[in-house]
Amino acid sequence: MIGILGGTFDPIHHGHLRLALEMFEGLALDEVRLVPARQPPHRGYPIARAEDRRAMLEAAVAATPGLQVDARELTRAGPSYTVDTLASLRTEFPERPLCLIVGMDAFRELETWHQWQGLSELAHIVIARRPGAPMPESGKPAELLRERLTENPAVLRGTQAGRTILQNVPPLDITATRIRSLLAAGRNPRYLLPDAVLDVIHERGLYLVSS
Ligand code: ATP
Repeated sequence: MIGILGGTFDPIHHGHLRLALEMFEGLALDEVRLVPARQPPHRGYPIARAEDRRAMLEAAVAATPGLQVDARELTRAGPSYTVDTLASLRTEFPERPLCLIVGMDAFRELETWHQWQGLSELAHIVIARRPGAPMPESGKPAELLRERLTENPAVLRGTQAGRTILQNVPPLDITATRIRSLLAAGRNPRYLLPDAVLDVIHERGLYLVSS
């Protein structure tokens, strides 16, 4: 069973890595693929170049078995639609369950994603929620969540796609935006992200100006 965590990772930080690891262990995944977007559909271009974001990701996961970098969106032209990424993974892994990891906030906005209904034909949807946070009550994503919901990770393993599951993930109050502004202000973002990532940032002179 493969977990997929997309993002801009501009830069990757401990919030992303904890989320990936909580899912890896909580759902007994074989691996979690961190998938950097080349051109996110919902926001502007990332600040760091694709090759720099990739190098930071590689540095971040090097010491963590189970986490991997999947760079397929970086080489695909046009907006990085998740549905295309899942279709490409499905072709590569016809038999294996795929688990798309999304935060509850992103899940609430699912209807705005390109071909959103195709997502659950290609993968299970794993929703990270803060402990105690309520589920959405109305709207199409809420219906999808209710109709396909299981509480048992083993159920995901029995089929390749189509179920939803909620996983409690204690949040870390870290954003890439804050790290970029600390760096641009000449301050030290250490402990918000792995030292190995900070080394890449310094070696390559990234995020020196405010975004
Ligand atoms: P930015 O500050 O540039 O908007 P970000 O830190 O939110 O970036 P993204 O690359 O947009 O990072 O996030 C990728 C995924 O990781 C999203 O699904 C997002 O919900 C999740 N995520 C980001 N930060 C955290 C965090 N601190 N804890 C848990 N999940 C997070």
